Amino acid sequence: MSNTLITDKSYINGKWIKGTQSFDVINPATHKVIASVADLTVADCRKAIDHAYAAWPGWRDLEAFKRSNLIMEWFRRIMDAKNELAHIMTLESGKPLAESLKEVDYGASFVEWFAEEAKRAYGETIPAPKMGQRLLTIRQAVGVVSAITPWNFPLAMITRKVAPALAAGCTVVLRPASQTPLTALALALMAHQSGFPPGVFNVITGKDSKGIGQELATNDKIRKISFTGSTEVGRSLMQQAAGTIKKVSLELGGNAPFLVFDDADIDAAVKGAIIGKFRNSGQTCVSVNRFLVQDGIFDAFAKKLTTAVKKLNVGNGLDDGVQVGPLINQDGVDKVKAHVTDALDRGAKLLTGGKAKSGFFYQPTVLADVDVKALVAQEETFGPVCALFRFKKEEEGIAMANDTEFGLAAYFYSNGVNRCWRVAEQIEAGMVGINTGLLSNAVAPFGGIKQSGMGREGSKHGLDEYTELKYLCFE
Ligand code: NAP
Repeated sequence: MSNTLITDKSYINGKWIKGTQSFDVINPATHKVIASVADLTVADCRKAIDHAYAAWPGWRDLEAFKRSNLIMEWFRRIMDAKNELAHIMTLESGKPLAESLKEVDYGASFVEWFAEEAKRAYGETIPAPKMGQRLLTIRQAVGVVSAITPWNFPLAMITRKVAPALAAGCTVVLRPASQTPLTALALALMAHQSGFPPGVFNVITGKDSKGIGQELATNDKIRKISFTGSTEVGRSLMQQAAGTIKKVSLELGGNAPFLVFDDADIDAAVKGAIIGKFRNSGQTCVSVNRFLVQDGIFDAFAKKLTTAVKKLNVGNGLDDGVQVGPLINQDGVDKVKAHVTDALDRGAKLLTGGKAKSGFFYQPTVLADVDVKALVAQEETFGPVCALFRFKKEEEGIAMANDTEFGLAAYFYSNGVNRCWRVAEQIEAGMVGINTGLLSNAVAPFGGIKQSGMGREGSKHGLDEYTELKYLCFE
């Protein structure tokens, strides 16, 4: 399929910039070069920030419904280009085409939602404590926003930040992951065609993640940085942003527990487990990392899960029927190998899988009776491995679920109404899926607690992240 949306230049101030150097974007399924993209520098980044800063007052002061109309036009163009966008995403990230198509719907839904929310940045009136006073609040755009996004959702991680920022009246400089810049540039192309004024949305591609990241975190023309990626990089950006006291939103790593209680519907739990674990080959921040299964149901769940995992079809995401694609790179494969070896060394039982295949592929794997000290329990595995841990009492399961510095997503299965409320309230996570393995959508707040980050994306709260609440006191 020829793809007219593949662009190799960065997008700054409404212009396409080639730069003096380029870097290759590789298809992780075939290791072939897809395109060679502009490798811009810190100096280029600074120019992009200057343009975003100059464009900010005009964009901020535009009537909300006009901003809304432009964002809605962007949404329509993204949906019209659904097939081409999904194709690019599968080429550069390796995820199965069916998942890429769903990601276009999911990512675009944030654009549509925030186009609507642009018109609803309401303030409030407050009963005054003193006669003659009138108190009220208004919401105003924060200013220039920098955004840094990862490769695992090349489209949605961008729209979840850029759409609310633009809706609020902020201008944006985005640096996408160097593994997946093509989807970001295709989004820029559609924004350009939608008629956004120059400088309002800028995409800077470049290999110098540290240097450009530092500029985006420290430049004093930027008022807010929004980052999705690893906790380690998020921590560093937060430290750098502290120098100019920027607002910070961080969507970081997770270590999601998936509890299956004795009173759960096993078939439903297995179905939820497959969705919660194998989407994007286990490379999502909300991927299940630890299956905590109550003793009475452990063997039955392990057996049914293993049967389902054995049926998964692994291959190139562009091939028909493929459900599990490659991992993103060799580092990803090495991490999965190390986690599986460590779990087996600590006495886990291998129920299926357990081997790397050629290229960046890894067999869907199930491990039972894993030691809680194993690496799979401590770190994000980011691969197609189900690690099953056993617990006896409800309190023990909850304690195991919370025994991590992360707190992004958690899931549990139970048919007991009282237990559902009890457990949902005690789990330490920003998001809890109850009898479901899939919970993210544009209308609900997405985000983590503990070292999984701060701030929320999506929902009515997503717009607040890009506004300042100003208080006015009239007398
Ligand atoms: P990563 O290494 O932190 O990379 C994320 C982004 O940061 C990429 O654009 C990367 O650029 C850039 N980057 C790398 N080093 C940097 C530095 N020193 N300064 C500034 N920017 C830097 O994360 P990853 O391993 O690619 O992505 C997976 C992680 O993201 C996982 O931990 C996952 O859980 C998390 N994630 C979280 C959410 C959420 O919503 N909570 C969603 C998706 C993913 P390059 O690609 O060019 O290195």
